[in-house]
Amino acid sequence: MQSFETLLRESAQAHGHLCPGQVVGVRMAMLGCRLIGLDEPRRRDQIKRLLVYVEMDRCTADAVAHVTGAKLGRRSLKFMDYGIMAATFLNLETSRAFRILSTEEARDLASAYAPEVMDKSARQLEAYKRMADGVLFRVQRVRVNLHECDLPGPTLHKVVCSICGQVVRDRREVYRDGKPICRPCTQDSYFSHAREVSWPGMNWSPALENANAPDLQAEKGANSSTGITDEPVLSRN
Ligand SMILES: [Zn+2]
Ligand SMILES: [Zn+2]
Repeated sequence: MQSFETLLRESAQAHGHLCPGQVVGVRMAMLGCRLIGLDEPRRRDQIKRLLVYVEMDRCTADAVAHVTGAKLGRRSLKFMDYGIMAATFLNLETSRAFRILSTEEARDLASAYAPEVMDKSARQLEAYKRMADGVLFRVQRVRVNLHECDLPGPTLHKVVCSICGQVVRDRREVYRDGKPICRPCTQDSYFSHAREVSWPGMNWSPALENANAPDLQAEKGANSSTGITDEPVLSRN
């Protein structure tokens, strides 16, 4: 694995800024990979052996993803929305898994580790570089309950929602009266009041050479501010 400083520099660049979360995330990922025996997680032969679960959508998560090379699109990165500064590193070959939690004590100890730094964020950043892993983290050996439909690779299971007709992959459907239903149709969804709309330039495609950007004002019948019409263009159900 590359050095801490190199990983931190790269990670901050990919994330957009250098912050205490980058230091914690890079160190968390380095420790996690070491514990499960993957020293070069981004290398071809190791990338397929690694699954990472992140439990927060904050700065630290980006650093963990960067260092490990785990990606949502490869299904090697799982986002568990727990609001906890923790990540689990699983070696698929050996089933060894460790959950690493960032300690609250580390936050309190920042001023003891970098007393000369006045700015709070800069002090945390410096202190998190100096602390031992055992101060910065707690580590749990865990067993990950992995379903085959959670693994990277081709889709193993697809059903059609019996209400809206949407295809649901990877057994994320629920069953009601024996019929498959997608999560939005059960009302267990992050959105509500869904209504199909038409939008300006809906006939545009990149294949149309010399196509001008859609003119929002030119569309007939469009709402004057957004150009979006609220009349349903498709009626499902
Ligand atoms: Zn950040
Ligand atoms: Zn549905």
